[in-house]
Amino acid sequence: MKVYLNGKLVDKKKACISVFDHGFLYGDGVFEGIRSYDGLVFKLKEHIDRLYESAHSINLDIRLTPKQMIDAIIKTLKANELKDAYIRLIVSRGQGDLGLDPRKCRGNETIVIITDKIKLYPEKLYKEGMEIITVPTVRNVSSALNPQIKSLNYLNNILAKIEAVNSGFQEALMLNAQGYVAECTGDNVFILKNGAMYTPPHYMGSLKGITRNAVIGIAKKLKISCQEQVLTRHEIFVSDECFLTGTAAEIIPVVKVDARAIGNAKPGKVTKKIMKEFKKLTKTAGVKYNT
Ligand SMILES: *Cc1c(COP(=O)(O)O)cnc(C)c1O
Repeated sequence: MKVYLNGKLVDKKKACISVFDHGFLYGDGVFEGIRSYDGLVFKLKEHIDRLYESAHSINLDIRLTPKQMIDAIIKTLKANELKDAYIRLIVSRGQGDLGLDPRKCRGNETIVIITDKIKLYPEKLYKEGMEIITVPTVRNVSSALNPQIKSLNYLNNILAKIEAVNSGFQEALMLNAQGYVAECTGDNVFILKNGAMYTPPHYMGSLKGITRNAVIGIAKKLKISCQEQVLTRHEIFVSDECFLTGTAAEIIPVVKVDARAIGNAKPGKVTKKIMKEFKKLTKTAGVKYNT
């Protein structure tokens, strides 16, 4: 496997970065997870836009233009002859010294692109649905570290994941500091109640997911009402259907939350329809490349 590292395609064994890289020392950097489906990179522009917005927000200048970044992604996919791939795009502050001061890293930012296969959850869970729990760790408050920034500083989400895993579950529902539903550790959450779909507004403490946005678009196309609404755990418990969205996870049904069955504890009808439509969308809504 070849990894793109600062302009060069290098063998994965040789794709190494400095121990003084602030991405490693402090989680100082931003990233994107992107997927390609049969030679189409899904919603590539949206991912690139979000990467540059995340970088801008943390005051990190990316030396590549968005166009050059896209070329680098395509080049890496081609080098690995991958048509179906998960693409991890990482821009860290780069090499500095042991201090926090990002000015020491200026102009050194590290750009890494890894393309590989990924399977986030076992296939069985997509068919039968997943059981999740609410965890004690709340989502970062936006005045501290805004969840809109897809940053390398992922400890908030990892702590939540650890709590879920320690309790024997795959995924965690995270609330915000006020106790409202934010999102899962790397996925957005949706519910369906009386035929209408709801997802928490991003200012409740979630990332504006690109899959989330695609699902909102699918709902519109299917003429299913879909609204951003503040949600509590109660609304989740009494919902008819629930599912999570994310680039890596795609769309995964949730059938139990904190031991409460959602609907009849089976993946919902609308959820399955959305999953089918999403699959269709991945065949069209992408940037084409030839391996
Ligand atoms: C990336 C991510 C998501 C999902 O966003 P997509 O654009 O759909 O991949 C949701 N929450 C968090 C915290 C994330 O990092």
